[in-house]
Amino acid sequence: MIKSTITDILGSIGVKNVGFCAFDSVKEHLLDCRAKSRLPQNAKTIIICTFPYKVKETEPKFLSRYAAVPDYHIVVGEALSDACDVLKQKYGDFAFEYFCDNSPIPEVHAAAEAGLGVKGDNGLLITPDYGSFVFLGEIVTDLQIECENKYGECTHCGKCKNTCPIALDKSNCLSNLSQKKKLDDSELQILRQNGILWGCDICGEACPMNKNAKCTYIAAFIDGYRDEYVIGEDTNNRPYTWRGEDVIKRNYENIK
Ligand code: SF4
Ligand code: SF4
Repeated sequence: MIKSTITDILGSIGVKNVGFCAFDSVKEHLLDCRAKSRLPQNAKTIIICTFPYKVKETEPKFLSRYAAVPDYHIVVGEALSDACDVLKQKYGDFAFEYFCDNSPIPEVHAAAEAGLGVKGDNGLLITPDYGSFVFLGEIVTDLQIECENKYGECTHCGKCKNTCPIALDKSNCLSNLSQKKKLDDSELQILRQNGILWGCDICGEACPMNKNAKCTYIAAFIDGYRDEYVIGEDTNNRPYTWRGEDVIKRNYENIK
C-alpha cells in the first residue's frame, strides 16, 4: 500500500521509474564518501529511481550519450529534491534524504534488488525499457516499506568484454581517463584511437540487451541535447565542465 502510494506520488511529479530496496541488504556494502553522513539514522528503505537519458538512436559525435544531455546532477538532483519535499509533506514523521552519484549506496546493486533491471557484466544496470542508458538516484528513508529481493544479472554473453578496449578492467576505464586533468602522450593516443572526447559507451553500445532501448521522455534531457561539443559553446550545466573547461578543450584538440 505504501509502495503504490509513493510510486503514484513520485509519478505525479515526473519521477516515473521507482523501485524499493531494503537498506539492510546493502548496509554492509556502503561506499565511503562525504555524503554518508547524510544517511538517516535507522535507515530502513532505499527508494531508488532511474532517469533515462538516450535522446536519439544515433550516437553523439565522440561524446558518451550521458555527456550529450544537461548535467544529470542538476536534473536528477532537482527531481529528487522535489520528491523529498512531497514525501515529507505526506509522511512528516520520517526522514527522506536524496543522493545522486555522490552516494554511499551501491546504486546498481540496489536498483537490481529493487527489480528495476539486472546487473550487467559491464557494471551497469540494464533496464527492460531504456537499457543501460539511465541515471540512478535514490531517496533513503527511515520509513519501513516492504521490499522483495529481485536481484538478477544479464545474460553474460561476453560482448561487452570482447569489445571493451581494456577488457572491462574498470581501474583503467577510458571514461575515467577522459576526465583526468593530466594525461601523458600515450594516454591521449588511447583516447584518440578510440574516438573518445568525453565518456565511453563502447561496452553499452555493444550490449545486445540495449538493442531496443527506448528514448527518454524527460524534457530537460530532450530540450538540452547537443550531439557534439563545440569550442566556445555555452558550457553552463554540461556534464563535462565539472573538471574545468581545460579538460574538455584538451580532449577536443586531441581528437579533432
Ligand atoms: S566504458 Fe569503455 S573503457 Fe570503460 S568498461 Fe566500458 S567499454 Fe571499457
Ligand atoms: S554485453 Fe552481454 S555480458 Fe555484457 S552486459 Fe550486455 S548482456 Fe551482459
